[in-house]
Amino acid sequence: MSGVVIIGAGHAGGSAAAFLRQYGYEGEITIIGAEPDLPYQRPPLSKAWLKGEASGDDLYLRPQEFYDEADIAIWLNKVVEAIDTTDKTVTIDGEQMVYEHLIIATGSKARPFGCPGAEETPYHLLRTMADAEGLKPHLSAGRHIGLIGAGYVGLEVAASARKLGCEVTVFERESRILARVASRVLSDAFMSIHRDNGVDLITGAEVVGVSADGDRKNVHMADGTTHTFDVLLVGIGALPADDLAKAAGIACANGIIVDSEARTSAPDVFAIGDVTSREIKPYYEGRYRLESVPNALEQAKQAAAAITGFKAPPTEVPWFWSDQYDYKLQIAGITRPDAKLLTRGDPATGAFSVFHLNADQQLICVEAFNRPADFMAGKQLIAKGVALDDAVVADAEASLKPYLQ
Ligand code: FAD
Repeated sequence: MSGVVIIGAGHAGGSAAAFLRQYGYEGEITIIGAEPDLPYQRPPLSKAWLKGEASGDDLYLRPQEFYDEADIAIWLNKVVEAIDTTDKTVTIDGEQMVYEHLIIATGSKARPFGCPGAEETPYHLLRTMADAEGLKPHLSAGRHIGLIGAGYVGLEVAASARKLGCEVTVFERESRILARVASRVLSDAFMSIHRDNGVDLITGAEVVGVSADGDRKNVHMADGTTHTFDVLLVGIGALPADDLAKAAGIACANGIIVDSEARTSAPDVFAIGDVTSREIKPYYEGRYRLESVPNALEQAKQAAAAITGFKAPPTEVPWFWSDQYDYKLQIAGITRPDAKLLTRGDPATGAFSVFHLNADQQLICVEAFNRPADFMAGKQLIAKGVALDDAVVADAEASLKPYLQ
């Protein structure tokens, strides 16, 4: 076998195969995925699917017929054990398979929960369909769920669990939720919304141990208190699944280092999606590991274009979304500690945006909370790099359109 081999049948891997065919690739394509499912979307696992508003079939990126018709071989329940970049092979079940081009799309994995007692205490994680299927039956009305870590996924589960009638307690070590990824205004808005919806949200909460007592799970805090739950979910972030690449000698630093064509340090080896550390030039300096669907799709296009010689796609402004209760958060761009923050609209009304400007008054990030028009305009303004006027930005009624012409 030769052609393109894709490791990981996730959002990035599945999409890369489709873009390869779309861009005219005629060679063999083989996707190898460790999970039992065809490539699927993970975002609904903490949102619509968990609430019972979407079926499993709704999650698949494409049906089996698509892969059959496009002549894309898809091997599920298979783990790639090693990569040899000199012989250009991957190892599966001890057998070598030759590639002409390799795409590593192994995603991210849950950060290990190293808390004392974790090994003896049953708890849930939420990364895969199997994780979600394991969690969902426990979220019936009246059950008390304890959530360790208030990142976006954890908070989405909190909102979904409340909708299902569960009691929910969330523990966050920082003094505010989303401290590293959102502005204070946004954190405060989410804290109020969760508390108004009955979530017991505890910040500055240092979990020092967990234990099991029959069916009950205990969470022990640094202040000596213990909280007891029916269900425990740990959501303390993710790490790049870059072990295979590291073992193969491919350059990694918090993910596989790739260029703007998704090329790694090894010839004919590409990496895409959550597993990568990438540049976002010309918009931002430095390298970023982005965990988002738009990033997975963008890099899938980059790799497919580089392999086929198709026109390289322009770099996109990164963006992300989160749905909690009836609120839609959309974030475009990336902030920096010295950014000037301007709030557009009153957070108390449930619709506002936070604009992050650099020293040249250019927009570098927008957090749009139930203000999709600000998100759309903000994304374009980041790409354009025009200098904005504070008074216009801070006036929720002032149009941003003149800046877009
Ligand atoms: P993945 O989709 O994780 O796929 C990687 C695949 O590679 C996995 O199936 C894994 O089993 C497989 N694999 C790993 N190692 C091997 C191996 N050695 N051999 C074979 N297969 C292997 N993003 C958003 O933009 N918005 C959201 O609202 C949002 N919500 C999310 C909610 C949840 C619950 C989760 C878990 C993620 C969410 N994300 C969201 C993030 C988004 O789903 C990811 O950024 C996206 O799935 C990344 O795609 P990927 O292909 O890089 O990785």
